[in-house]
Amino acid sequence: MFRTAIAGSLPKPSWLAETRKLWPQWRAQGEDLAQAKLDATRLWIKAQEDAGLDVIGDGEQSRQHFVHGFLEQVEGIDFDHKVEMGIRADRYKAMVPQVVASLRLKGRVHEAEARFLRANTRKQIKFTLPGPMTIVDTVADRFYGDRVKMAMAFAELLNQEALALQADGVDIIQFDEPAFNVYMAEAAQWGVRALERAAQGLTCRTAVHICYGYGIQANIDWKKGLGHEWRQYEAVFPALAASSIDQVSLECIHSHVPPELMALLKGKDVMVGVIDVASDQVETPEEVAETIGKALQFVPRHRLIACTNCGMAPMSRELAEAKLRALAQGAALAAQRLG
Ligand code: ZN
Repeated sequence: MFRTAIAGSLPKPSWLAETRKLWPQWRAQGEDLAQAKLDATRLWIKAQEDAGLDVIGDGEQSRQHFVHGFLEQVEGIDFDHKVEMGIRADRYKAMVPQVVASLRLKGRVHEAEARFLRANTRKQIKFTLPGPMTIVDTVADRFYGDRVKMAMAFAELLNQEALALQADGVDIIQFDEPAFNVYMAEAAQWGVRALERAAQGLTCRTAVHICYGYGIQANIDWKKGLGHEWRQYEAVFPALAASSIDQVSLECIHSHVPPELMALLKGKDVMVGVIDVASDQVETPEEVAETIGKALQFVPRHRLIACTNCGMAPMSRELAEAKLRALAQGAALAAQRLG
């Protein structure tokens, strides 16, 4: 009764890339690397199906990082001269590439893994792309001189790839916008507009994932300073409710997000985070069912999709697999109890 899905990323096997890193180095090159990426994708398709999830993703096995995987196929970006930049309002420093010319796609970005995913499961498939505002916050601008202009340029490219992914057979296209939780006013002013540009013309389901980041130390420290009530979603949810985007993914379990903020997403499917990605503790099905119960006070049952709080890339494989099982078991328990 309650559908289940993951936010996006899953850990990469140690034979594919360095483990427990957000920007891991690949372990192979050329043809071997291309094959290894698809092998890892197959492994996670099976793990998600075995766990009993309803919506299957590629676990982002083919991209080094959720933003830079896309950027690598964009012309106008200088990857050879990366610069250090404070990102997410200076929460952490990263070496980022620079935008140096008008942006253009070199070709398809995720064709191989999207088609592979489609060919290897009969379930609904979801594919993730970085959102325009988050991209803008993860590159250095030496060309546009205006965040909104650059975001709209990226949105056009994202739209081209999204339309192609839809043609590949993808059922749900999700844009990841953690930056919405950092620049709340700008998100409402133009972030949602850029997102809609990226999703323009899509007839498949569209989604946006807004989180408080991966379970890395910089994010854990940041969250400690956010106070006992996290109301960031309050600024952007009304704009999203009025938008063309179908689904919204948010953090719930172990967060300080007041659950009543979910009521602001009237008319949208809500992907409720019932799995904590910043904890090594595997949730019990009871805990997951309880979180679903809490969300049900504010989200109609047919709109509720049980999900992870964020991606699981920096985790161990064993832990991620255990959390996939907890997600499906908890959703089944909730259906039994609350159905
Ligand atoms: Zn996230």
